[in-house]
Amino acid sequence: MTQVTERKSGSVGTGLDRIDHWIGGREVAATSGRAGPIFDPAAGRVTREVGFANVDDVDSAVRAARDAFPAWRAMSLSRRTEILFRMRNAVESHRDELARAITSEHGKTESDAFGEVSRGLENLEFACGIPNLLKGGFSEQASTGVDVYQIRQPLGVVAGITPFNFPAMVPLWMLSNAIATGNTFVLKPSEKDPSASMLLARLFHEAGLPEGVLNVVHGDKVAVDRILEHPDIAAVSFVGSTPIARYVYERATSSGKRCQALGGAKNHMVVLPDADIDMAADAAVSAGYGSAGERCMAIATVVAVGDVADPLVEAIRARLPAVKVGPGNDPESQMGPLVTREHRDRVAGYLDSAQRQGAKVIADGREHELYRTDGFYLGVSLVDGVTPQMDCYRDEIFGPVLTVVRVGSYADAVKLINENPYGNGTAIFTRDGGAARQFQFDVNIGMVGINVPIPVPVAYYSFGGWKASLFGDLHMYGPDGVQFYTRSKVVTSRWPDPGTSKVDLGFPRTR
Ligand code: NAD
Repeated sequence: MTQVTERKSGSVGTGLDRIDHWIGGREVAATSGRAGPIFDPAAGRVTREVGFANVDDVDSAVRAARDAFPAWRAMSLSRRTEILFRMRNAVESHRDELARAITSEHGKTESDAFGEVSRGLENLEFACGIPNLLKGGFSEQASTGVDVYQIRQPLGVVAGITPFNFPAMVPLWMLSNAIATGNTFVLKPSEKDPSASMLLARLFHEAGLPEGVLNVVHGDKVAVDRILEHPDIAAVSFVGSTPIARYVYERATSSGKRCQALGGAKNHMVVLPDADIDMAADAAVSAGYGSAGERCMAIATVVAVGDVADPLVEAIRARLPAVKVGPGNDPESQMGPLVTREHRDRVAGYLDSAQRQGAKVIADGREHELYRTDGFYLGVSLVDGVTPQMDCYRDEIFGPVLTVVRVGSYADAVKLINENPYGNGTAIFTRDGGAARQFQFDVNIGMVGINVPIPVPVAYYSFGGWKASLFGDLHMYGPDGVQFYTRSKVVTSRWPDPGTSKVDLGFPRTR
């Protein structure tokens, strides 16, 4: 849990630089007197703090968004698109700065952070096509002299609550389509790494986004709860862990809001006996340890089918010594630290429980030299002989611990995946097109990779899991995102000749 400091507004406090909210086109200090620490995970020390919102702060942000809505909604599509293009260009030309901000607070390597910004940028690019995406339908002469058409209109003020692991990309997943479709937005980013969203807000302001269209409030449960109950917020998008996603979905929908809440994951990578072992091992290492395993699409479990297991585990193990762990801002580093010491220790705890419960720890990240420094490091860890009953299989670990479950057949692999409560992503490695096609048909998972370990959909599809990985009806971004942030209106229209008008009390029928 984040340690929160209490202090009176305006007092000198800790002397650390403080990150404020962004409301109505400018920085606004939190009035709660509460703040949270921001760490440099590589050094393991607090570098800044972030002011936490109270109810009044959230209300000010919502008011700014509500005031900005009528003009933003009424702005022509071509003018709105012009602004979106400028927002897109602003992010592109500040990729490095954004990546550095992410690395300094999250810990991931700068090249990984750069990749995150690029994937976020895709969403702005998709949103630049909004005039085309908002085209409705038109039926001429649905009845004699009667036309019927459908239009999509924005919801009003919408909110987004985002996790620590993608501090730029996930806000861009949400706000690109939300704003493009004419809504105004209140973002509550993760309190662990809030700088990227502040940088985005400033860049968008400079790009010409009118004041109040995007607002950022920082904080914890207090801010989230106010968002969930605020009567002027029409919809909430959430990304984070499953227990909080479920809570957000239940509270938001019970107060009448539209909600999409994306939760945690446990992604399986099936390796069939005919797979190319080296390719599968490269993919398992890349997708298991990239971003220190702190990705909702990371591979958590390798499912080795039949006699592929021994050579595959050996191929993965052989690659581990070459994975360079170090500070995210060192270009040589391939994997950085974890986000907090508390999280690192929780992840490391799964190595103990795995051993206790009968699995074999083949590589123990606690033996890495950086584990004993102040930084929140854990080396790459590999656990073989895992069974579905073990904690390291049941829980989302969200760290650089790759587990291997050995199964006898393809059917056993599918059963394992389909019985898992999560349903975010999965992948299959095989040279057999028929087997891959059958897998895509059989598996109860929202995003599937065929010889692709991290199948995050491009921005013109939509992102979302099944089961406990998503609460709500629509996936995020892409076409589903446009639908989520708009509601449809159907107009039935007649321009009669007054000479033919008459009273008719019957129910309207097409003629
Ligand atoms: P988290 O659930 O702890 O926090 C997410 C957001 O909820 C943050 O903004 C946080 O401030 C807020 N929050 C935390 N506790 C709260 C509470 N008690 N009440 C109300 N709000 C609360 O998640 P995290 O640790 O920031 O992110 C990691 C998790 O997010 C992992 O489980 C990961 O799988 C998941 N995730 C999922 C996806 C996806 O697309 N499905 C994408 C990224 C991350």
